[in-house]
Amino acid sequence: MIASLLDAFFGCWHNHYSFPITLRSGSRRNTAASLTGTYVVCLDCGKEFPYDWQEMKVITSTSEAHRRLHSLATKHAA
Ligand SMILES: [Zn+2]
Repeated sequence: MIASLLDAFFGCWHNHYSFPITLRSGSRRNTAASLTGTYVVCLDCGKEFPYDWQEMKVITSTSEAHRRLHSLATKHAA
C-alpha cells in the first residue's frame, strides 16, 4: 500500500532492475535507451530507465535526464 502510494507520487522507486541492455547506436526503438544507449527494466513494474555505464547507475531522476539530454544536445551541436 505504501509502495503504491510512493509509486504514485514519485514514480518507480524499485531496486530490482534487469541487467543493463545496450542498444546499437542509431536505434530509436527505446526512449529510455536513447539517453545513454543503455537501459534497464524494472522487474517490479516493467518501467524502462536509462542506465549510465560510466557512473554505474540507473538514471531515475527526471531532472537529471533532462540535464543529460541537454548536455548531449550541446555535444552534438559542437
Ligand atoms: Zn518499478
